[in-house]
Amino acid sequence: RTVYVNGAYVPENEATVSVFDRGFLFGDGIYEVAAVVGGKLIDFPAHTARLHRSANELGMRFTVSDEELLAIHRELISRNGVDEGVVYLQMTRGAIDRDFMFDTEKLTPTLVLFTQNRPLVDTGVAKAGMKIVSIPDLRWGRCDIKTVQLLYPSLGKMEAKSRGADDAWMVRDGVVTEGTSNNAFIVTQEGAIVTRPLSPSILPGITRAALMDYSAVSGTPVEEREFTIEEARNAAEAFITSASVFVGPVVSIDGVELSGGKPGPVTLGLRKQYIEESLKRAI
Ligand code: PMP
Repeated sequence: RTVYVNGAYVPENEATVSVFDRGFLFGDGIYEVAAVVGGKLIDFPAHTARLHRSANELGMRFTVSDEELLAIHRELISRNGVDEGVVYLQMTRGAIDRDFMFDTEKLTPTLVLFTQNRPLVDTGVAKAGMKIVSIPDLRWGRCDIKTVQLLYPSLGKMEAKSRGADDAWMVRDGVVTEGTSNNAFIVTQEGAIVTRPLSPSILPGITRAALMDYSAVSGTPVEEREFTIEEARNAAEAFITSASVFVGPVVSIDGVELSGGKPGPVTLGLRKQYIEESLKRAI
């Protein structure tokens, strides 16, 4: 694979960043993951807008233009022959001798992008659905910023696996916040689609926002309110949204089956709608 590092396209085994990079030493970095289908980027402007927001919230400099970012994405997609997969982008505050304190103005941000080829549309998760377990949400208070501090989500996924599940939903103050790397939704017995409102406790998912737009247009708007894991276990259906999974059916929560242990009809309809609509807008 060819990867992008600070202005250069290089073979992945020749790509390097400094051991003093603050992303490496302090987790002082932000990232985005954009899906590619048919060689085109899904929801790209929204991912770029969120990257700006993350940089702003952390007082990080932004040294690349949106046009350049798009050009880099496209160059990597082309060089690596990505038909279906993702582009990962990471931006850190930069490299400087290790110190908790920093002077952002003296730092040049590190920018790294690479691609991963993998099927996204026809996947096992889409067909069989995923099993979820609940875990406490022990992350910091600014989960609305997309930082590379992903140790807790990573350990959460490992715990889910050790409990025979595919992923975990996190619970704070008695309500579900989100999945380890996705937003959490339920479909009530009455057919309403529910997800918790945005706050510093969750990431403002790009897929979440797009799905809400599409569902409002088609007449089943998403209700934004908090829900407990008990309500989720008793829901008609549940699903997750993320840039790389799109709409992923949830078929069990803490061992309790939903929609007969199969992806539910509302979820599958939303998945189809999301893929169709976002492909129309892909660039
Ligand atoms: N929440 C968390 C914690 C995530 O890591 C992600 C994926 N980056 C999401 C939600 C979903 O966001 P998006 O739809 O923008 O991928």
